[in-house]
Amino acid sequence: MPRTAIDLAPPMPIYEYLSESPDEPGSSCRICSKGFELFRPIDREALEKCPMCKNSVRKVISKVSSPRTVAKPFSTSDAKKAGFTVLEKRDTGVYEKI
Ligand SMILES: [Zn+2]
Repeated sequence: MPRTAIDLAPPMPIYEYLSESPDEPGSSCRICSKGFELFRPIDREALEKCPMCKNSVRKVISKVSSPRTVAKPFSTSDAKKAGFTVLEKRDTGVYEKI
């Protein structure tokens, strides 16, 4: 028997950041030249500068820390209720805000 799905709070994403110029001395520090991970509440805007050296960083990957065994995916309405912007893929590289 499948276990009952538990409604989870919006997941806390883990963002991974890397320096824009990891190979240029002076444009990165030892933290961002290797990349670093940061927990950030989902309603915070993305980090743009390394907290250590203040040089530009870019977001590399975002993982989600919720368990992989979530039985029930978020529906669009659940996601909207939770404050997510829901994007639906319409065409290659084209997303429509719905
Ligand atoms: Zn840095």
